[in-house]
Amino acid sequence: MQSINPQLLRLSQGHLNLLQTCPRKFQHIYFDQLGSPTSPEQQDRQNWGSRFHLLMQQRELGLPVESLVQEDPQLQRWVTSLVSAAPEILTPAPETFRQSEHCRTLNVQGYLLTVIYDLLIADSQQAQILDWKTYPQPKHKEWLEKDWQTRLYLYVLAETSDYVAEQISMTYWFVQSQPQPQSLKFTYDHRHHEQTRQDLTRLLTQLTVWLQRYKDAGEAFPQVSETAIPCRSCNFAVRCQRALENSAFSSRQSVLNLAEIEEVSI
Ligand code: SF4
Repeated sequence: MQSINPQLLRLSQGHLNLLQTCPRKFQHIYFDQLGSPTSPEQQDRQNWGSRFHLLMQQRELGLPVESLVQEDPQLQRWVTSLVSAAPEILTPAPETFRQSEHCRTLNVQGYLLTVIYDLLIADSQQAQILDWKTYPQPKHKEWLEKDWQTRLYLYVLAETSDYVAEQISMTYWFVQSQPQPQSLKFTYDHRHHEQTRQDLTRLLTQLTVWLQRYKDAGEAFPQVSETAIPCRSCNFAVRCQRALENSAFSSRQSVLNLAEIEEVSI
């Protein structure tokens, strides 16, 4: 077991998603360090996503992108499609603050909640968070609305700026959608903000209790119920003595979504 100081834990949306999905899985991955190796396909996708984000950052900073584009002409096509689909947000406007890879941290109950916006655009009236997604657009908007990335990104901006919730929005751009990039926009309001505050408070209070028990007595974090859906595709099913058929899952199916947890800093 690692030596853990709850007061120094930095938590991203990936941590919150995993903690909410299954506390035991959170423990195995972040404290027991029992993650799985990344498959070559996943590694390729992650590398491509990283290059796309880097290219967009360089472009925003006015830095040369030729070397990146030469390595992968497809990147240039996606960027060109995105720029033509969203010229108003990718073209700087006067008296507007813009910053790519904009990082903010909020201390809640001693945890450092950390967000990194792919692009933040703000003026005297509103603040827009933009996020580039290199995976296909989900079928259901509700899936993203409930995801901790959406909730945490909006919450942290409202808590760390002078904007009221109604002035803030978050837009995902799915850059590989055909025939052109598609977007999903989430507006924000006081009601959603207070709901997120309550849910965060509950989740972090639980985490503190679980951490303390784990640290003091080696008590494992709680599992989800035996029939829970997450167990069906979990690579810890055998360790957790869950459904037998889970043990036959291939590493490809059970491997972690490292894109979600790469901002780990514990
Ligand atoms: S098998 Fe189920 S209980 Fe065990 S870590 Fe995975 S999701 Fe959690």
